[in-house]
Amino acid sequence: MPIYEYKCSACGHQFEELQKFSDAPLVECPVCHKPALKKQITEAGFVLKGTGWYQTDFKNEGSKPSSSGSHTAGCSCKACSANSKN
Ligand SMILES: [Zn+2]
Repeated sequence: MPIYEYKCSACGHQFEELQKFSDAPLVECPVCHKPALKKQITEAGFVLKGTGWYQTDFKNEGSKPSSSGSHTAGCSCKACSANSKN
């Protein structure tokens, strides 16, 4: 059973009401008894599902710089020079 959030546009009273889908929406405010209730859209009822899709970096495959794994003896990159000082 969904929980509906109502807000009275007359007095500003806000409350939640557990209702069936088939139940008619509330109209009269329990505080000021004016027919000024408005049904709010609660976040819980509108949780988006299926947001697991994301774009991967497939288009960059094959265009990576070939720096890794191709160090030679005279390589002067930071990693190699640090190793040679040992
Ligand atoms: Zn009210």
